[in-house]
Amino acid sequence: MFSYRHGFHAGNHADVLKHTVLIAVLKHLTAKPTAITVVDTHAGAGLYRLDDDFAATSGEAAEGIVRLRQQPPEPLAPLLADYLELVASFNKAGSLKVYPGSPFVAQALLRPEAKDKLRLFELHPTDSKALAAHVEQIEAQRMVTQVKADGFEGLKAHLPPPSRRGLVLIDPSYEIKTDYGKVTACVQDSLKRFATGTYMVWYPVIPRPEAHDLPRRLKTVTNNAGKPWLHAVLNIGHAEAKAERPGLTASGVFVINPPHTLKAGLKPALEQMVEALGQGRGQSHLLESAG
Ligand code: SAM
Repeated sequence: MFSYRHGFHAGNHADVLKHTVLIAVLKHLTAKPTAITVVDTHAGAGLYRLDDDFAATSGEAAEGIVRLRQQPPEPLAPLLADYLELVASFNKAGSLKVYPGSPFVAQALLRPEAKDKLRLFELHPTDSKALAAHVEQIEAQRMVTQVKADGFEGLKAHLPPPSRRGLVLIDPSYEIKTDYGKVTACVQDSLKRFATGTYMVWYPVIPRPEAHDLPRRLKTVTNNAGKPWLHAVLNIGHAEAKAERPGLTASGVFVINPPHTLKAGLKPALEQMVEALGQGRGQSHLLESAG
């Protein structure tokens, strides 16, 4: 079975990038009154304690959300302000103990009154149970369905959503290298079912051919479908002392049918992510788009 647990990574630099983009996309989609459906194919446990054993063991949040919150660049880019504000809403004033994963980032922005829907898939038995328990605690739980099932497969039944408006977040752990191929196949198939949907894929920038190829393949699939895309990479680099084992230093987000406002909003936010989270050698960002 899988060994990946997002609890070790919650609130790290990759989550800062992913959840900042997720909030920006959802704020745009919910600005119109029509209902939206959000499908999160790889949901994780939903909520994470930053003071539990997972977070303490990895210390990854310290180099992500914790650092950004303690030393925010000024004036803060609006997308980062939205991100910090949303995370703060899960915590008591002045403290940072709880970190919301993508299901709760989305849930916080969805509107029960507009009949927005949130569909969650999580395969890991423990995280799936934790997710169910967290969902049970929210008032608006009727807008959420959660299943312990393969998100790549389960997604198909939700496309297109009834209101023909929505977002699909595809955020696997890439523990198995076939995940890379599955992501491309999933996007290709999904665009046939729901061509006007917004899709967001997260991926790690690591020295593995499949990871290197993924954004290139996503561009090809998206260009072939005649759809616009945006691609953002955050590389926090690493300190000289960590040159031997730097860990994950970079990740990317690929958005298909992005909001037209996303690129302009993300530019200053990405620059500030590098400024606030950069560790030294190799720190950089990339922001490109087409269509
Ligand atoms: N999206 C979450 C967030 O941003 O808070 C993090 C998700 S984590 C990177 C990936 C999750 O996918 C893990 O919890 C893992 O157990 C789960 N997973 C792995 N393969 C899966 C599959 N085929 N379908 C659904 N979930 C899967």
